[in-house]
Amino acid sequence: MEKPICPKCDHVKTVKSGVVGGRQRFKCKKCGYHFTVNKLGKSIDKYYVIKALQLYIEGVSYREIERILGVSHVSVMNWVKQYKIKAPESNDYRPTYRVLNHTELVKFMANKENLLDTGMLITELGDKFMIIKWERFKNR
Ligand SMILES: [Zn+2]
Repeated sequence: MEKPICPKCDHVKTVKSGVVGGRQRFKCKKCGYHFTVNKLGKSIDKYYVIKALQLYIEGVSYREIERILGVSHVSVMNWVKQYKIKAPESNDYRPTYRVLNHTELVKFMANKENLLDTGMLITELGDKFMIIKWERFKNR
């Protein structure tokens, strides 16, 4: 789980400092300010919900999503239900995905071959980037 930044001085280094009223309390390492965060990790969860649902809509299986994102396939199934997501049937294109770091992404883009006859979406994934690619006219 990511640690929150200090609401007083915006310093990024904060440490856990006990639990108050059921909420995790943090202390800023720079200015010493104490603060609590409502629901820890909520934004991170949302982040992965969106990534998972993107992949689901692209026709990636639950198990594959689990492997790519490291979130349980059961969670993904629950999100699909919760948000009433319906993946359209996709018969005429094949979605592929890959996870690259920035250097690999630059190399990938430098190769024009990778950009021909395809559509793609690049989305941040933690400290890396995920490319979802549609190869409509290529062999399956
Ligand atoms: Zn501070």
